Amino acid sequence: MFKTEYAKRVYAELEKKNAGEKEFLQAAKEIVESIEIYIQKNPKMEQQKILERFLEPERFVQFKVVWVDDKGEFQVNRGFRVQYNSAIGPYKGGLRLHPSVNASIIKFLGLEQVLKNSLTTLPMGGGKGGSDFDPKGKSDNEIMRFCQSFMTELYRHIGPDTDVPAGDIGVGGREIGFLFGQYKRIRDEFTGVLTGKGLTYGGSLARTQATGYGLCYYAQEALKALKNTSFAGKTVVISGSGNVAIYANEKATQLGAKVVAMSDSNGYIYDKNGINLDVVKQIKEVERGRIKEYVERVKGAEYHDGCRGIWSVKCDIAMPCATQNELNLEEAKTLVANGCIAVCEGANMPTELEAAKYLIENKIIFTPAKASNAGGVATSGLEMSQNSLRLSWTFEEVDQRLHDIMVNIFNASYSAAKEYVGNPFDLLAGANIAGFKKVAEAMVAQGI
Ligand code: NDP
Repeated sequence: MFKTEYAKRVYAELEKKNAGEKEFLQAAKEIVESIEIYIQKNPKMEQQKILERFLEPERFVQFKVVWVDDKGEFQVNRGFRVQYNSAIGPYKGGLRLHPSVNASIIKFLGLEQVLKNSLTTLPMGGGKGGSDFDPKGKSDNEIMRFCQSFMTELYRHIGPDTDVPAGDIGVGGREIGFLFGQYKRIRDEFTGVLTGKGLTYGGSLARTQATGYGLCYYAQEALKALKNTSFAGKTVVISGSGNVAIYANEKATQLGAKVVAMSDSNGYIYDKNGINLDVVKQIKEVERGRIKEYVERVKGAEYHDGCRGIWSVKCDIAMPCATQNELNLEEAKTLVANGCIAVCEGANMPTELEAAKYLIENKIIFTPAKASNAGGVATSGLEMSQNSLRLSWTFEEVDQRLHDIMVNIFNASYSAAKEYVGNPFDLLAGANIAGFKKVAEAMVAQGI
């Protein structure tokens, strides 16, 4: 637990003020535990109450979203935007549309985003938003009406130099298009206010691939530095079959690995010959169907009900790319018992804290989300740069910059893990410290 009175006091106060916010408190605890060592070495942090100021969001907006479904019935949802920290740049972070979305989840994601964005080395503060709207089974017109209503409130809080949202679970190119269209209509201006835009109206090449590709670039560095190995010849299991999972599969395969399992929230598929990604893309990206349809199209593949069983599939590298808390201690132990050498997080906080600690203690490579999935937001940052310059870079140019950023993020987290913790496997603490340091210094410099 905490080593200092200062951290204990701050966390106790946070628990009291945010009672019942499980995900937010979990993320905050993990961060405070690992940056304590840096705080101890820098007395200004306590003198200037930097930890308290860092944990409190600068602004939290909750609003009503009313829309009309295809049957003509009124529907009411709840919208959120947290503007967490703007010490190093305008707020930046995705929008999530999922029935589980609530204040705790938005705040946990916003807090993580502050450190993630700092790690990218680009000038971006942290924010996050979304709604408890469930896009599953909705028509394109229903999605459009929801997005228009959502933006009719959100527009007053965002702007290209203020807060730049992007996609997350349930928000892809289609939703960003509707949100952008409504912002443009209301403000009467064409600006880079959202990222993840379509290529015909200011989007960046390689943004779609960026989080999954970036995850593999980071994992590649970790495999090299910590186990002197690579993806070549490795068996990989990837949870999820959304944006992050699909492009993690694509890059891992390009780097010589064989991906044998993927999932959605109903179950997982196992294909011993290596998953045919074109089939998954057709089902998930084009038809918006269910992963179990894969076995009807690919001979020899198996489908298993229940998504958690995926962690019992034998693999060298596991990549949780679906959602938070999808991998617990027991499942981590099963992976290790089956010979897994690396758990690389693509989703946000997919590994429970006890499981992450177990992996680090057992010298299994554990790449923490805020570092290893930062490729998405980094490329969003590159989209902002291209919008400001009013020009577009080629796919290769963006991909090369993404690659360089991921290598830098790995080096920053690896160096901090060695310097502050004395354990190169503790990339979790390394990433937290490297990300926090920059934000804290900027906060000190700017006064209260
Ligand atoms: P998508 O909506 O594209 O895909 C999410 C996938 O996860 C779907 O296949 C979904 O299945 C599946 N899923 C949801 N819950 C579970 C579960 N409990 N078990 C197994 N599968 C599940 O989202 P993204 O790929 O964009 O995001 C995935 C994660 O990555 C999130 O944590 C997100 O915050 C994070 N992330 C995304 C970034 C991006 O650029 N997109 C950037 C950084 C982080 P179903 O269809 O059944 O719901």
